[in-house]
Amino acid sequence: MYDLMTETVTNLSSFAEIGLAREILHALSDEGYTDPTPIQLQAIPLVMQGFDLLAGAQTGTGKTAGFTLPLLHRLSQNIKPRKPKQPRVLILTPTRELAAQVADSVKAYGKYLPFKTAVIFGGVGIHPQIDQLKKGVDFVVATPGRLLDLVDQHAVDLSEIETLVLDEADRMLDMGFIRDIRRILAILPKARQNLLFSATFSDEIKSLAAGFLQKPKTVEVARHNTAAELVSQVVHPVDSKRKKSLLLHLITSQNLKQVLVFTRTKHGANRLAEQLALGGVSALAIHGNKSQNARTKALSDFKEGKIRVLVATDIAARGIDIDYLPHVVNYELPNVPEDYVHRIGRTGRAGNTGQALSLVCIDEHEFLHNIERLLKKKIPSVTVPGYEPDPSIKAEPVFLGRRFQPKARSNRPKR
Ligand code: AMP
Repeated sequence: MYDLMTETVTNLSSFAEIGLAREILHALSDEGYTDPTPIQLQAIPLVMQGFDLLAGAQTGTGKTAGFTLPLLHRLSQNIKPRKPKQPRVLILTPTRELAAQVADSVKAYGKYLPFKTAVIFGGVGIHPQIDQLKKGVDFVVATPGRLLDLVDQHAVDLSEIETLVLDEADRMLDMGFIRDIRRILAILPKARQNLLFSATFSDEIKSLAAGFLQKPKTVEVARHNTAAELVSQVVHPVDSKRKKSLLLHLITSQNLKQVLVFTRTKHGANRLAEQLALGGVSALAIHGNKSQNARTKALSDFKEGKIRVLVATDIAARGIDIDYLPHVVNYELPNVPEDYVHRIGRTGRAGNTGQALSLVCIDEHEFLHNIERLLKKKIPSVTVPGYEPDPSIKAEPVFLGRRFQPKARSNRPKR
């Protein structure tokens, strides 16, 4: 299932054999985890020993537990009185959703340990965060911008940080956080442990890593196999005007219950959610223009099964962690092929099988071609009877946000 390319070959095979603290093993058994995932088997012993780590792993591999478990362990072996405003572990994430999820993991795995965790992100009131930091926390999970606001207000003091984690570092760079990250690195104590997790390794990531990791150990779970092998993928060719009707048809005829649907634009997400609701399928949209509360509410309604469809843009969907999400639909293909891998990575997580459907019109053939080249395989194409594309329709450039960018690499906003 996974390709392993690692420096250290370990023959430890259970959480107990790895030597995690009893309190952590207890919490893991409450979570129902029986065996470590490959990234956990490799990363946990190295992090426990205090090494810096350069880890190649995308969401769905169990990477979050891969760093939270050993960090909880390390702190549990060296419990210190909590000091106001001085956390010991700093975990940086690109999005609020991911920050909240990582903090939830730290709390869940650490529930029998005496640590406190603060989750810090923008878009919500700053004062509760200031109060919480003042009372003292051990772990801070933060997005970079709000953390720097708090640093500037002297609400947090990073001089006692023992371990820094950059989670989804590639996403952080994509979102334009490099200057914020460098500012944060500059105020951290020199002697510390550093962990960098990233799904991809561009030159930019490599140069960032080279700048602050000290003799890092490398751990990698190759990503191309995970998505391809765990998720059944299919393309349904269809004319763009008929996509909405085909989506409704697929959801109702197959009685799909929990479907994450991707569009390229926020406007498209809103419109589609409204149209699905009019068609009798409960749906909400989640994207960057919505308030944090509206996003959290939409996500929890979706997780609880109160709505069947969540329509999301790529940025809003980053870090969404839903156990057993069975279906992902690409209502529109992403123009950045890596986004396809991230999208379908929302399903087929932690060993579960998932289904990824892509509705592809003639204008998107180049996007499809680029995705297949990245995956190094062709995605099977199945025409749904009654939805055959009209051969007389000619391809047109795809509207990407504000500009026409038929060959653009990315339409992501910088922040
Ligand atoms: P992540 O890659 O960190 O986003 O984790 C993906 C999912 O796998 C999450 O829902 C975790 O709760 C779950 N998970 C992580 N580690 C394990 C494990 N060892 N056994 C079962 N599920 C796990």
